[in-house]
Amino acid sequence: MDTVPSKLSATAISSYAEQIADHYRIFSEGSAADLGRLVQALGGEVEVSNSPIAQESLTVNGARSFTVHLPPFTGSRRDRFTIAHELGHYFLHYLYPQHKGMHVFSRGGSNLAEYEANHFASCLLMPAEMYEKAYRELKGDHYALSKWFDVSPAASRIRAKVLRLGSGS
Ligand SMILES: [Zn+2]
Repeated sequence: MDTVPSKLSATAISSYAEQIADHYRIFSEGSAADLGRLVQALGGEVEVSNSPIAQESLTVNGARSFTVHLPPFTGSRRDRFTIAHELGHYFLHYLYPQHKGMHVFSRGGSNLAEYEANHFASCLLMPAEMYEKAYRELKGDHYALSKWFDVSPAASRIRAKVLRLGSGS
């Protein structure tokens, strides 16, 4: 079944993600988003599959009970983005529309729903103000920024572009 997009604006998704980051205090001085702490506080868990053909997905059993499934052999930064993306589905496409009962989110949902989950992930891992400050301090060096936020350099570049930072190069 296709995931129904929330149709929330990019700004609304951004403030939703940042409220969650604040509420669960996933940032402490000088460290990247603590997703383990967030997943645990939400009553969820992360499970790494043994199967090499496993796909990234999310099974929600009900409010405050879900499992993020990760394939084996993926890098930790990719896994972090995936976890944040699946949390985007949990908040935007399960809690927000007030779904009840079991719901499975896998690849191949609508493009808009996937875009929303990616934008949520990006905002959760790299909140705007924090990112802008780090970007200035690190002079737009995406390698350094990716270490700071524990994301891939590609994710950092997208964040900078969305926030209209730098020359766009
Ligand atoms: Zn997705």
